[in-house]
Amino acid sequence: MKRRELFQTLVAATAGAALLGGDGLALGSTKKSGATTFSTQIQRLQLRHTWTTTMSSSAYRDTLYAQFTRDGITGYGEGAGIVRYQQNAPGGQKALDGVRKLITDADPWQFAKFLTDLDRHLPGQRAALAAVDLALLDWICKKLGVPLYRFFGLDPADAAITNMSIGIDTPEITRQKVREAADFPFLKVKVGLDTDEATIDAVRSVTKKPIRVDANEGWTSKEEAVRKINWLETQGVQFIEQPMPAHMLEEARWVRARVHLPIFADEACHSAEDIPKLRDAFDGVVIKLDKAGGLMEAHRQILVAKALGMKAMLGCMVSSSVTITAAAHLSPLVDYADLDGNLLIANDPFTGVKVDKGKLILPSGPGLGLVKV
Ligand code: MG
Repeated sequence: MKRRELFQTLVAATAGAALLGGDGLALGSTKKSGATTFSTQIQRLQLRHTWTTTMSSSAYRDTLYAQFTRDGITGYGEGAGIVRYQQNAPGGQKALDGVRKLITDADPWQFAKFLTDLDRHLPGQRAALAAVDLALLDWICKKLGVPLYRFFGLDPADAAITNMSIGIDTPEITRQKVREAADFPFLKVKVGLDTDEATIDAVRSVTKKPIRVDANEGWTSKEEAVRKINWLETQGVQFIEQPMPAHMLEEARWVRARVHLPIFADEACHSAEDIPKLRDAFDGVVIKLDKAGGLMEAHRQILVAKALGMKAMLGCMVSSSVTITAAAHLSPLVDYADLDGNLLIANDPFTGVKVDKGKLILPSGPGLGLVKV
């Protein structure tokens, strides 16, 4: 073989190897191809309105972002640290810095096994784990060339209708927020402070549409919870989220026996293993990607809840379109959706899921279907 022919043969062989590693044909293989990188950034998301719940009040949120790049394809992830669980963006970023080599050395096609292992290396950092889970699944689906809903075998036409959340505020601002949410068929109203009646009165002075109420553990006795829930039943409320502190499971059973409205567990439900013991005390569970540690665990929780005859609602933290779009891809599986975190911020770094009168419209591009703004 002449030198020129040998060179051409080598070029062709190299190109073939790169193609094999680069178009998904290497599925199941542990062969590495191209540089694998994993990076994180913290971005400040500015809230449209100061956001107040029983937990905290803030004008912005610092949120953790992750990128997993391999074979020239980048998967994007996000994790919103949850203050109640002592999580924040710098802590999550530090935790992920400590496992970067595990992530870049892993075979991404074994994501289910890998994410289970990674959970053990990130104690107390489920939001950071969620950022990795989302980035890996975005990458996997981009490699396969399918949108995430298709990867889970779901029909985008079944995507849920999301409510719009109204944080705790003065009656005047509450009325303004309710008017701004005119397009949404359902509202979710935050209560749990000593302004509950004034808040609901303000909402009802503007609209008669069905509302959901989230007390965020704010009612501290079972008698107060029963009194508030039975009053809310007269106010066009569909269901109540986490009326009392998460640990008050016995009291939650007592309350449930004395009210008609369905009650959902949020702060009391962290993992699929929690759900069987919540069955007698609650009618449903609220599942969030940040709380669960990503799509894989959230999917597991939805299936466990349904298998136990409980309702499932997908909720969210204040997040950008990365997390909200990822959750929206799972929403064909749930009974209710509270996926409005991206609508609460003014500087979303991505576009993804759209909303039409509350109906979630899933993007059809591969992976999460995100586009950088
Ligand atoms: Mg909640």
